[in-house]
Amino acid sequence: QAKHQGKNRFCYFDANIKKLVTSRMKMERDLRQAVSEKQLFLVYQPIVNIRTNQIDGLEALVRWEHPENGLVSPAEFIPVAEETGLIVEIGEEVIRMACEALAEFKQESILKHLYVNVNVSSLQVLARTLDDHIRQNLLQMGLDSSSLNIEITESILIEDYKAAMSFVRELKSMGVQVYLDDFGTGYSSLSYLHKFPFDAIKLDRSFINALGESGQNRAIVESIGQLAHSLGINIVAEGLETKEQLEVIEQMNYDLIQGFYFAKPMKIQEVKAFVSQFEIDD
Ligand code: C2E
Ligand code: MG
Ligand code: MG
Ligand code: MG
Repeated sequence: QAKHQGKNRFCYFDANIKKLVTSRMKMERDLRQAVSEKQLFLVYQPIVNIRTNQIDGLEALVRWEHPENGLVSPAEFIPVAEETGLIVEIGEEVIRMACEALAEFKQESILKHLYVNVNVSSLQVLARTLDDHIRQNLLQMGLDSSSLNIEITESILIEDYKAAMSFVRELKSMGVQVYLDDFGTGYSSLSYLHKFPFDAIKLDRSFINALGESGQNRAIVESIGQLAHSLGINIVAEGLETKEQLEVIEQMNYDLIQGFYFAKPMKIQEVKAFVSQFEIDD
């Protein structure tokens, strides 16, 4: 009897795995098509200067408009893009679109000193062609390299320290700034902070989320801000959602804030409209 049940259960899992593999294969095929048929686009979330209450920059976030399934989030398709290597091509397209948007902002003189942050995953760094691609795009669109920032996560520092270092140095020598994204979620050592010439750290939103929970959380967020500043690095609070969180972060001398409290990621036309009426209520 038990043996029979076990066998049934095995069949059940087997069918599930098959379904999973099939849907994965479909996503891979669809994603390939998405790239060639330009189904990918960028949305932009404002990065706000905490001292001036102005929008200093935008983070570009990729979206996929699937012809049947509608909007797919990057959390779903970026991992597939990474496994299949498609991320290299997608990443190049993201850089191109971000530079194009930036050029549009500059042309229309909207926020003269505006910069755009672009996320880059480990595999793109390891492909070692991204720096050239960035250089070409900046040149082609007549953009100053200081208007593009690249965000990398701690994982690349662990996966391939040397490749990460040469990538970061190459960007820096071009005049492109480098941000360390999702800080505090990985397993990297704090010593990376002074070994890599980061311009800013983005403290992961899980920390901002936990601010109200205890004095200890508050102490951690504050010390990370102080640590960044003592190393000459700017500090960004990610995922800021409430007025309470804003008040706490303001007292901690943070530099920049980003989160739904100010704005969700928007399409470029919406950003333009938003920028023109932007004012933080205090
Ligand atoms: P990330 O770089 O840390 O981007 C911030 C994410 O937090 C975005 O999710 C954004 O919509 C979300 N967010 C911003 N403010 C808030 C808030 O107040 N509350 C909450 N709950 N969430 C907030 P999104 O757009 O879904 O992107 C998820 C991740 O996908 C990004 O995390 C990034 O790691 C990756 N990603 C997005 N676009 C790209 C891309 O073009 N290339 C690569 N390689 N990765 C990308
Ligand atoms: Mg990011
Ligand atoms: Mg982040
Ligand atoms: Mg991330």
